[in-house]
Amino acid sequence: MKIAILPGDGIGTEIVAEAVKVLKVLDLPFELESALVGGAAYEAHGHPLPESTLNLAKSADAILFGAVGDWKYDKLDRPLRPEQAILGLRKHLGLFANFRPAICYEQLVGASSLKPEIISGLDILIIRELTGDIYFGQPRGRRVATDGHFPGAEEAFDTMRYSKPEIERIAHVAFQAARKRNRKVTSVDKANVLETFQFWKDVVTEVHAQYPDVELEHMYVDNAAMQLVRAPKKFDVVVTGNMFGDILSDEASMLTGSIGMLPSASLNAKNQGLYEPSHGSAPDIAGKNIANPLATILSAAMMLRFSLNQAQAADRIESAVQSVLASGLRTADIWSEGTTKVSTVQMGDAVVAAITKTITKG
Ligand code: NAD
Repeated sequence: MKIAILPGDGIGTEIVAEAVKVLKVLDLPFELESALVGGAAYEAHGHPLPESTLNLAKSADAILFGAVGDWKYDKLDRPLRPEQAILGLRKHLGLFANFRPAICYEQLVGASSLKPEIISGLDILIIRELTGDIYFGQPRGRRVATDGHFPGAEEAFDTMRYSKPEIERIAHVAFQAARKRNRKVTSVDKANVLETFQFWKDVVTEVHAQYPDVELEHMYVDNAAMQLVRAPKKFDVVVTGNMFGDILSDEASMLTGSIGMLPSASLNAKNQGLYEPSHGSAPDIAGKNIANPLATILSAAMMLRFSLNQAQAADRIESAVQSVLASGLRTADIWSEGTTKVSTVQMGDAVVAAITKTITKG
């Protein structure tokens, strides 16, 4: 089992180091190979996704990714910016399905900004289409307007588009995931305004005919944003396009207390996957040994389950995280009165110790 380790920038290197520690203690036959990506790769090789990093990612069974980006690169031409690395990996590996589970751990109910009764027991799955939509649609660019409200003025434009096969395959992923959960899919669109999302709604409805045992509801994205904070437990699987999914999954992350707790998986048709925390490189706290490594550690667990067929090892990591939280250890982002504040490294060590304990017990 070959795993490409791509730590990236900012807190990426700190949190991936903890996840690697956890993978190593499992004592499974992994081959771990690291490469630079994002700003770190730009500094060393002049490109955020060098050929060597891309080749390593292509040859691996799975990729463990930290995060990329730093404000100091904001002035670079767009193709050279760190964030292009993650877009490039998604595109080259065909990683079209992004899974973002939002689970509220009982021990962290108090860390959410919502009332306990609204989020206690929360377990929803957001599935975001990752390779289409306005993020990749062509044409895009800047030009002088020839029509609109201000002809002759400078303007910028992007293209929102989805093909039928792109919508069909993500709809299948969502219905199949719902079958393993509570058999309900909410498809989020903006069909009342956008042609692309009326088409999305029509295609999802068509695919649903093959899944009569799964309930399907359609919801406009503005309503979905509101319902996610009003009554999030009413959702089971949420499926949506690239841009709406980006925004809603970040919103959902705050339900769970901290963006530092949310893992994610991006899969292609061969189940090869890229696993990363849902958050970014957090330059504001980088190098301070205070970032929460749990989202990355839980991403490693998803990697074992989805791409490496090691469900037992994944369970072991997830139970270890639960027991560490139950013992009261917290990084700063999820700390509250009465719990013990620990650093990034101490949190990683605690998860390793909890796993070692279960291994020793047999
Ligand atoms: P961010 O997710 O990096 O940070 C948002 C806030 O959450 C910050 O206050 C940060 O300190 C906090 N935070 C994030 N992760 C945390 C963790 N593990 N533990 C504790 N606190 C945590 O988002 P941003 O500030 O908007 O973006 C920073 C950089 O990250 C930008 O360059 C952006 O482009 C990039 N980014 C990269 C990815 C990716 O690599 N997939 C995703 C999102 C943003």
